[in-house]
Amino acid sequence: MLIRTHTCGQLRDSDVGTTVRLNGWVNSYRGHGTGLVFIDLRDRYGITQLVFAGEDLAKDVMDTADHIRNEDVVAVEGTVRIRAGGENPKLVTGKIEIVVSKLEVLNKTANPPFLPDDLAKLPNEELRLTHRYIDLRRPKMQQIMQTRHKLTKTTRDYFHDNGFLEVDTPILYKSTPEGAREFLVPSRNVAGGWYALPQSPQLFKQILMVSGCDRYIQICRCFRDEDPRADRQAEFTQVDLEMSFVRREQVIDMMEGYVRTLWKQMANVDVPPIQKMGYREAMERFGIDRPDTRYGLEITDISEIAERSEVAFFKDALAKGADRPKFNSLRGVVKAIRVPGGAEKLSRKITDGYNEFVRGFGAGGCAVVKVNAQGAFETGIAKFLESVKGELVGTLGLQPGDTVLFVADSYSVATKSLGELRQKVARDMGVVPKPGAEGGPWNFLIVIDFPMFEKNKDTGKWVAMHHPFTAPRDDQRDAFVNASVDDDVTIESIVSAGYDIVLNGQEIAGGSVRIHDGAVQSKVFQLLGLTAEQAKEKFSFLLEALSYGAPPHAGIAFGLDRLVMNFVGTDNIRDVIAFPKTQIGADLMTKAPSMVTEEQLKDLYVKSTFVPPVK
Ligand code: ASP
Repeated sequence: MLIRTHTCGQLRDSDVGTTVRLNGWVNSYRGHGTGLVFIDLRDRYGITQLVFAGEDLAKDVMDTADHIRNEDVVAVEGTVRIRAGGENPKLVTGKIEIVVSKLEVLNKTANPPFLPDDLAKLPNEELRLTHRYIDLRRPKMQQIMQTRHKLTKTTRDYFHDNGFLEVDTPILYKSTPEGAREFLVPSRNVAGGWYALPQSPQLFKQILMVSGCDRYIQICRCFRDEDPRADRQAEFTQVDLEMSFVRREQVIDMMEGYVRTLWKQMANVDVPPIQKMGYREAMERFGIDRPDTRYGLEITDISEIAERSEVAFFKDALAKGADRPKFNSLRGVVKAIRVPGGAEKLSRKITDGYNEFVRGFGAGGCAVVKVNAQGAFETGIAKFLESVKGELVGTLGLQPGDTVLFVADSYSVATKSLGELRQKVARDMGVVPKPGAEGGPWNFLIVIDFPMFEKNKDTGKWVAMHHPFTAPRDDQRDAFVNASVDDDVTIESIVSAGYDIVLNGQEIAGGSVRIHDGAVQSKVFQLLGLTAEQAKEKFSFLLEALSYGAPPHAGIAFGLDRLVMNFVGTDNIRDVIAFPKTQIGADLMTKAPSMVTEEQLKDLYVKSTFVPPVK
């Protein structure tokens, strides 16, 4: 084999006159029928033009060249010369070409189902995932893999420089009720026993702190058997971290340093000090705990004014849960979004759609008022607001041409539905800036002071807002430990020592100070509905470890796939994973998941109840 001396992205005019060998894929073939063949040879590093000039070539070499097709794998030897046909400024090798003297076909391709050409229209994603090896040859995909590599390397370097140790943790783990549904793996050696794949290395990293590791990092795979969603993968990668003898401030400082280093290295962007925002403020102003602060359209609580209006359904909503404290999820509120210029841009059809949209989040509907050119209120509820018009104009800062959107409901429903609606309105109004990778702003935010618990609206049970190992904020510990498990109002008000990092409205990292005190941990398990026996069965290893000298510790995890998506400017998570799965968790290339034999199941003590549908 003609082993390469250079890559296809390496040769320049300074190499003219040298004899070189290149190996690669035929990116394009142009035969001129006059004994002249041009081939663009491609590898990960670039493209180099090859020239086969019939009059100077052995006949068999020319014959072979004549039969070459796109995506064949070839090796050539030849001499570098300045391009006879003029420079191609689009290629780094565009000044030169190789006049070929020897050609070896290393592998003839079958007829490819598509060509890895970024400039051509891409075939559908299913075909690309089925033949991922061809899709990954596209220069854009090669670029993404390089970006991902650079990101993991920058990450490892940063944490290494800060004294973190990378420690691998097991993939075959124990089934524990941590939040998401787990993937299970049956054991052959322990009849009836099952492993679970880890949702994250959470407990191992905490135990590493008990082990004296002090600072841990792992670029690790996590597995969550979640319902199909466009932007999720059942198997994804985290930058997972834990630190001992710290409180939330030290973790946040370390993470800010990481974010700053990453953005400098990856995008040459200087990230300014990141603003912190309390959960309550985020919910009040943006209706979501990961606010997109690149545009306004903020939410305003107008409950007090609504109380004095003539709008019956405002009053009905406000009457509910009126004895509950402010911000309690069940207390009635009326909230509004002022949409500058909405009167013209948001047609009746669009605002009718908003009504439907908020119903999807449990709200009764979305009332609309338009401020006309004379400053008068128009549409359905306008006349019932007449008595409080001046106050609304003042509080919301209304101008002619605005639209106001109102939701009256319980605090949680009104906040959530307006938070979602705000994002939709921003898209409809065209006020969402371009993504950072395309020159738009990078708006970071650190959100702190989350509630410890929220009620699952389907089961009515408490769930940990972050995860069950998150500590209450230091000043909340006693209130938490002393709260009765039936005291919903107090439990809901307990603030955790959790924190998230938000970028342009996406959560890119989440973490917390951990519980390192058995009494607090047991109380959390109790609230989550685990009996003492269940807690012992599932988590005795943790509770035991915490009882043998556990240092205060805290940590965080970044979603690595999401970080890469930001730098390459895609909103498709599958673009940044070499071998991704579809929304239902299928690997189209290997055809996993697939059936297994009765024999295999028997070895694992498993009986399948699946009955294949009759065709
Ligand atoms: N283990 C958490 C998660 O995967 C992150 C953390 O708390 O460090 O979301």
